[in-house]
Amino acid sequence: MEQFTADINLACDLDRQDELACFRDEFVIDDPNLVYLDGNSLGRLPKRTVNFMRNTIEHDWGNRLIRGWNDGWINTPTELGAKIAKLIGAYPEEVLVTEATSINLFKLAVAALKARPKRAGIVSDGFNFPSDLYILQGIVDLLGKDHHLKLISSADGITIAPEAVETAITNDTALVSLTHVAFKSAFMYDMARVTDLAHQSGALMLWDLSHSVGSVPLDLNACNVDLAVGCTYKYLNGGPGAPAFLYVRRDLQEQLSQPMWGWFAAQKPFAFELDFTPASDLSRFRVGTPPMLSMKAVEPSIDITLEATMEKLRSKSINQTEYLIFLADQWLTELGFTLGTPRQAEMRGSHVSLRHPESFRISRALIESPPPAIQVIPDFRAPDNIRLGITPLYTTYTEIYQALDRMRIIVEEKIFQQYSDEQLAVT
Ligand SMILES: *Cc1c(COP(=O)(O)O)cnc(C)c1O
Repeated sequence: MEQFTADINLACDLDRQDELACFRDEFVIDDPNLVYLDGNSLGRLPKRTVNFMRNTIEHDWGNRLIRGWNDGWINTPTELGAKIAKLIGAYPEEVLVTEATSINLFKLAVAALKARPKRAGIVSDGFNFPSDLYILQGIVDLLGKDHHLKLISSADGITIAPEAVETAITNDTALVSLTHVAFKSAFMYDMARVTDLAHQSGALMLWDLSHSVGSVPLDLNACNVDLAVGCTYKYLNGGPGAPAFLYVRRDLQEQLSQPMWGWFAAQKPFAFELDFTPASDLSRFRVGTPPMLSMKAVEPSIDITLEATMEKLRSKSINQTEYLIFLADQWLTELGFTLGTPRQAEMRGSHVSLRHPESFRISRALIESPPPAIQVIPDFRAPDNIRLGITPLYTTYTEIYQALDRMRIIVEEKIFQQYSDEQLAVT
């Protein structure tokens, strides 16, 4: 690991030595005054996507019209799935791009519970993204309240001990549903170990990879994962509300049945038969007509990630989060900040949460300070986290330096006191 100093020259040197530096030029970056550390909520726009979408709209839609489906749209969900499969260590026929993460979680969790009819337990944790928990609560309600949801809790607010997972899973557990990298603390589970624990007790394992895909290397096949879902608009830069993906292990596909029997899940959608027969492959996890424009936009950005390779992205991400934590230790600890993320790199994803009692107003000051101040976009996560997302495809060391320097100034000079703590609709 690097020996860091809190000197801007070091940041410039690290940027010069960065072998992934050329990828920054793949993205539309038109505001030199903006440090964007929110690629873990909405990734930047790739330049390739702009031209690709112009052609998709003008030619594929404008000229080809309905013929576009047979020209290739119909296979887009599986073709994009095959590309994502390379990023997550899956076979191409195990991944499908479709719907939103929440909807995919619903389909796969219900399918898993139906496959374990004698068991009533669902295990998740208190770090999970609320939408995941709401979906699981809704499923318990829908299925007649015979199931129960148990949440593993964290002793330190940052990590979850493997022993806590072990205790929570019993031989009544049907499904273990966890997010691999926690959205607040960035804590990352040992996927192989937890999947193994679920299997030892006969449960199915469902991972949410929203903060993992494009951020950490994954090998679902090596871990023998049953089911997974994930986002494409975060580290994969697919665009606002871009469709999500789902993964179902090959040998489970024919055994599982998801509850939304739309025509695209049928064996022969265009036979227009009156009774549903599910497709025999992963297509049975589809529902309706895919949103082709937003789905197309995912393609160029996955290609960029594949070109950079997950190994190099992870190595840069680790070095950048280490650098960020070093600067936080140097400058921010004495100003009342604490680290809300595991210190050990192998236990975290690609963002760092810094906690402070005034986090909300500090994050508003970061975002809204007028020029000539540098504007920094992190995001605020209640109650007191400022979440700084590192996207190694385009985040520079200089930006990390500038962001932390700005946080220091905002607290030292009490600039945050000029901002109200009125909550906004989207934070
Ligand atoms: C971002 C995120 C989601 C988003 O779900 P949508 O259905 O796309 O809104 C779900 N789960 C996790 C863990 C996330 O981080």
